[in-house]
Amino acid sequence: MKIAIMGAMPEEIAPILKRLETYKTIEYAGNKYYEASYKGVDLVVAYSKIGKVFSTLTATTMIEHFGISVMLFSGVAGAISSELKVGDLIVASKLSQHDLDITAFGHPYGYVPEGSVYVEADRKMIEISKAVASEIGKTVKEGIIATGDQFVANEERKNWIGKTFNADALEMEGASVAVVCDALNVPFFILRAISDAADMDASFSFDEFLETSANESAEFIMKMVDKLID
Ligand code: SAH
Repeated sequence: MKIAIMGAMPEEIAPILKRLETYKTIEYAGNKYYEASYKGVDLVVAYSKIGKVFSTLTATTMIEHFGISVMLFSGVAGAISSELKVGDLIVASKLSQHDLDITAFGHPYGYVPEGSVYVEADRKMIEISKAVASEIGKTVKEGIIATGDQFVANEERKNWIGKTFNADALEMEGASVAVVCDALNVPFFILRAISDAADMDASFSFDEFLETSANESAEFIMKMVDKLID
């Protein structure tokens, strides 16, 4: 087993690298990848840069070049569901691209021919995360995550995404990582801690809570790694 831990921004993987202490840095395809041995298992850690294109590149590279067999994503997201507050954890049951739109041809939002509106995440990993959560006394909400190349800071847009995709949270990388892993048969797990409510205060909330929420998510991801290694 070779486990990938991916984030989009430096802040999302910093707590993981800090935990690993020693790792090897490899520069490849315009990015840095960190290889480490953790409790006898190989890890590859990287942040992709923000958005669907960069996260597609990084996820593909981790699978095709580094040969990872499990993908864990750790990061922050904007909440849609009013149940989700800053710092809360959400694990994706399935993911969709909210900005993919060829509805002019009669297709639903998020759909292109030979694709699907949603990509389902790995059920076993979700069950493992529930076991981890109950062991450490944390709540992890399972829900739908919508992804697009936009920082959403607008109540109207957020509500539209919520309604159209039945989504509980939104971010900018999850669905693209899901598409890659699904196509290449790699089980994946997308975890996010809420940094903002995707409303008019989102950018302020994001700046204030990025670090603590990214830490919250990373800490849980390392618990997932421990469980997977067990
Ligand atoms: N402040 C950063 C930009 C952050 S973009 C800079 O200036 O460089 C937001 C990042 O956090 C993305 O990686 C996305 O996945 C996640 N995210 C958190 N809240 C979001 C929101 N309201 N809308 C979209 N993405 C959000």
